Amino acid sequence: MTLRRLGQRGLLAAAVTAVAVISAGTLHLGGATAWAATAAGPASPDELLDPGEGLDPGEGLDPDTTEKDCDASDAEPGESALEVTAITPDRVPRGISPKYAKAARDDRVSLPRLNEANAQQRYLTVEYLLPTGAELTCVRVDLLNTSPQAGKPVLQTVTRAAPTADGGEGVKSIGRDELKVRVTFDEQHPSKIKSRPSEVTRIGYRVSLVGKDRDGTLITARKDSADFFPLWRMPAGFDRYGQRDDKRGGDDWCSSFAHGWLSVAANQALLPRINDISGEHARNLGHGTHLTGDDIDAFHPYRFSGVDAGAPGSGGLNYDRLVAATKAAMNDDEDGLRQVTEWAEATRTRLGKLIDNKNVIRIHYAAGSAVKGDARFVTGWASALLRTGRYEFMDAQKESKEVDLGIGAWSRIDNQVIRAKDFRTDHNDHLHVALSETRRK
Ligand SMILES: [Zn+2]
Repeated sequence: MTLRRLGQRGLLAAAVTAVAVISAGTLHLGGATAWAATAAGPASPDELLDPGEGLDPGEGLDPDTTEKDCDASDAEPGESALEVTAITPDRVPRGISPKYAKAARDDRVSLPRLNEANAQQRYLTVEYLLPTGAELTCVRVDLLNTSPQAGKPVLQTVTRAAPTADGGEGVKSIGRDELKVRVTFDEQHPSKIKSRPSEVTRIGYRVSLVGKDRDGTLITARKDSADFFPLWRMPAGFDRYGQRDDKRGGDDWCSSFAHGWLSVAANQALLPRINDISGEHARNLGHGTHLTGDDIDAFHPYRFSGVDAGAPGSGGLNYDRLVAATKAAMNDDEDGLRQVTEWAEATRTRLGKLIDNKNVIRIHYAAGSAVKGDARFVTGWASALLRTGRYEFMDAQKESKEVDLGIGAWSRIDNQVIRAKDFRTDHNDHLHVALSETRRK
């Protein structure tokens, strides 16, 4: 085929029918290829085709630049011998500990907030067939919304550059038939995505290749990747504690569903201060779980007076206060007993509200561990107090005694969301709440 030059009207028609993104670039035919990849600037609207509003004629389209486009959308698939044969995602770094070696999902990709960049970039390996004597001049990747029924609109062109040996503009040549292409957002190419996170549940990448065959004819090829699950920064408005370094991508990435759930005020009210959700691209944060953006670690349901929940180590400190109050109660101290009772009642109430939410499918909380130098504490003492309202122990004279909070057994003791075994010593210092899009029966 030959290079067809479409006027603005033709490009608009193509955009409406094929939902193609119109992007800017400069192709010098007959000479060296140069792509003005940053010419549009990060704030330029031609980087973006917003599903709701981007098709407004004239908006974001520059007729002088769009006709010299790195756009393969007008080519019939299979028309040229250029072909994308495979698209393979990279691997997210695994944790160093063998325990968490498998704790990563390569099909999770973090999409930053509007005008923000990723801390860690993700890459696709693109394999292709190039006809003899032909030259690859441009590689472009469009981020697609592949959610069911969405119609695959383009969210943003993420990369558009000629392949180079060092991959400086995001496209690196690996031999004659392989490319490594950046598909996430760097500082020069920040996110322009305006879609509601809860409405984009699947994403994919459309890889377009543009080249010239030996007589200068434009050749194109295109292929869509398999689907990925997007992760989003959690909604604003939550108090946090114990955040991880944002230079490493932070720890507040949540699934599309969790983003929607956390955006509802009634659900927000169920959660204490949040510690973390998922790492960027579901990078391992030293949890065995937290790989899908649906697991939330939060502060204790009850905060002892004087504990600053936002301070470092506050979760452990609050647990230490529970140990101290229980110790006092064991020594027949009235105030200790009152504090433990308050802890148990407030925690029961808060857990009960979480259990009542049908999208909360699992909760983990403190079991209580053995305490060094005090044999009265046996693993499970805290959950016994919470669930049964009593804790039996042996005193120094090997006599059986008990702390009785006088509140009876928990009315939700037989619930299926936080069962006896879901009280764990590795959750002494925090509350873990797992969400699911599929509601419990
Ligand atoms: Zn957790």
